[in-house]
Amino acid sequence: MREKVIPYGKQFITEEDIDAVVEVLKSDYLTQGPTIELFEKSFAEYVGCKYAVAVANGTAALHLSVIALGLEKGKKVITSPITFAASANCVLYAGGQVDFCDINPDTYLIDIKKIEEKLNNAEPGTYVGIIPVDLAGYPVNTEELNIIAKKNNLWILEDACHAPGGGFTDSKGSFQLCGNGVYIDAAVFSFHPVKHIATGEGGMITTNRKDIYEKLILLRTHGITKEKKLLNDYHGDWYYEMQMLGFNYRLTDIQAALGISQLKKANWSLKQRQKIAKIYREELKSIGDIRLPFVENNVLHAYHLFIILTSKRKELYNYLRQNGIFAQVHYIPIHYFPYYREKGWKKGDFPIAEAYYNECLSLPMYPSLSDDDLNYVIDKIKSFYR
Ligand SMILES: *Cc1c(COP(=O)(O)O)cnc(C)c1O
Repeated sequence: MREKVIPYGKQFITEEDIDAVVEVLKSDYLTQGPTIELFEKSFAEYVGCKYAVAVANGTAALHLSVIALGLEKGKKVITSPITFAASANCVLYAGGQVDFCDINPDTYLIDIKKIEEKLNNAEPGTYVGIIPVDLAGYPVNTEELNIIAKKNNLWILEDACHAPGGGFTDSKGSFQLCGNGVYIDAAVFSFHPVKHIATGEGGMITTNRKDIYEKLILLRTHGITKEKKLLNDYHGDWYYEMQMLGFNYRLTDIQAALGISQLKKANWSLKQRQKIAKIYREELKSIGDIRLPFVENNVLHAYHLFIILTSKRKELYNYLRQNGIFAQVHYIPIHYFPYYREKGWKKGDFPIAEAYYNECLSLPMYPSLSDDDLNYVIDKIKSFYR
């Protein structure tokens, strides 16, 4: 066993990041200060959208977005069974019902054709929205999804937690960054340390819709506003109003400072991820029965994860683990979980997602993965199949 384990994902913190945090610690504002807005502005610029709202984590971003976009009690929202539980749970927080749709066997993303079939077979008004996930950093074709959403009067909330910097070229030849809001109503990002940009805990919502932006700003902080032009009443300069039922889902200025500093390295980090992916592809292309991730020509993959499929998944997972390499499985289908089984879901409901789950394995993928460690991982995979 090596001294140091190699995880599947990990943050990359520099002296510059540390200095940025220390500077805020010495300032007047640890939270609700000016650094939040700066982070939001630079993030909006990075993904190419009009508005960005920083929140406590990616799950809070999902929760608030679903409320802001509108979810009447009992209405349904579609998402993929192959994602982190939060992509589905947020619908339940808001009083809605989750419906799953099987995945595409090539991209492992929600199958847009199957969404269309589902909608065609449903009573009008059953569904209010779709939460597609840019799984592993592979961008959802939101242009295609948008056509179906418009036809059925549904909102789209892109779960782009895996995909800052990723995107695709649309049918008009324009490049669309994940979360840029062109074909979607809003998108969410997470700044958990395994994601592209780390702030400890943290999240962001991006949108081009002013109405959604304004609701999110209120919802993030108890539904309370002090802004004079929004007030219904005025008792004096202390006066504020609670106008809707909100939460305390704020990000701190300490985290925002780290976020700004991390964002400066985001382009470099993405290139590192793509470099690592290229090496994995070259080295593993004819090893055992390994199936490498599929990438369409019009796609810029953000490689949050590098997922391979193999019929020897469990054996490979155990072998790597014995050798200090902590690969991971993304994800256990949500409909397998006891909580969701109680809602009536069962094994067999989504055969493609289930077959994918039996074989998927996420190899170490993070910008600070050294050449030595990468070579070690590749050598161990090769020796496993030998
Ligand atoms: C990480 C993640 C989330 C939740 O983000 P947190 O910041 O951990 O709350 C939601 N969806 C996906 C796809 C994620 O990977």
